[in-house]
Amino acid sequence: MKQKYFMIQNSILESIGNTPLVRLRKVTENVKATVAAKVEYLNPGQSVKDRIAIKMIDDAEEKGLIKPGGTIIEGTSGNTGMGLALVAAVRGYKCIFTTTDKQSKEKIDLLRALGAKVEVCPTDVDPEDPQSYYSVAKRLSEEIPNSYYPNQYENLSNTQAHYETTGPEIWEQTEGKITHYACGMGTGGTITGVAKFLKEKNPDIKVIGLDSFGSVYKHYFETGEFNKDVIHPYKTEGIGEDIIPGNIDFDYIDDVVQVSDKQAFLMTRNLATQEGLFVGGSCGAAVFGALEYAKKENLKSTDLMVIILPDSGTRYISKIYNDDWMRENNYIE
Ligand code: PMP
Repeated sequence: MKQKYFMIQNSILESIGNTPLVRLRKVTENVKATVAAKVEYLNPGQSVKDRIAIKMIDDAEEKGLIKPGGTIIEGTSGNTGMGLALVAAVRGYKCIFTTTDKQSKEKIDLLRALGAKVEVCPTDVDPEDPQSYYSVAKRLSEEIPNSYYPNQYENLSNTQAHYETTGPEIWEQTEGKITHYACGMGTGGTITGVAKFLKEKNPDIKVIGLDSFGSVYKHYFETGEFNKDVIHPYKTEGIGEDIIPGNIDFDYIDDVVQVSDKQAFLMTRNLATQEGLFVGGSCGAAVFGALEYAKKENLKSTDLMVIILPDSGTRYISKIYNDDWMRENNYIE
């Protein structure tokens, strides 16, 4: 693996990837397996999504889909926007992002701090609704000349980024000993790209997808049916969907575990206070769900589970790390 900090880099974009894999020691009580977390907040944009941001723009430049001085337009829960904004800053593009009113204020402020324009759209509308953040991003990309809409949901450069970087890193860091891979599912790029790489190396590796209650994924995984009735609002940001994106491929996924907001957020706080991992809510969801699976399936001491931690706690200071907000939402007494 490249020793990324021992040379002068041409830009901050070269420090994307090669994140550490860190053993979890305390939150893993009653789990026999070794559990290690891939700490993605150590990317320069503090999330796993830097990896896809640079890949989607590299691929678009190569295909001539974006020209110098052009505008990148994307629907994002915040992290992909942050990665794209870094790429845009270094390469001289403008950015317009659409997001939903459920995302934390910190994420929106961060995007604006990096020079992006941000349109906040309502969360509780159908994806096809003209007000939805998907529709607004698409419309803007049609209206604004010399713009490029990466569309992380359908753009397979997303999955490919993880197939080329995250997957090989995990394989090398575990010296091929990984037995279980657990990952939250948003666009599906992280779970699918890594799973594809790992299963090509060793088809026995089990892949566990973590989902939120209120998302369509678990029901779809189990029945093959898209059921709108299971959709309801929830607070965990970045995982679970109300669509089936082109980047998720359930053929690579062996089990799906749903996690509640309360379970996710209490685990998020435990990761900070017990492991020194200051992470976001989808990390708590991933760890809680993965450990439930490890207990249910009685993983052995020889098993090695890797869990992806997608982003940083800095995005959630006003929510998960704020006692008033946690109390108002009945997550703590
Ligand atoms: N957690 C967070 C905080 C995210 O922003 C995302 C991206 N939506 C994910 C998890 C899920 O990653 P992916 O889109 O690759 O499924």
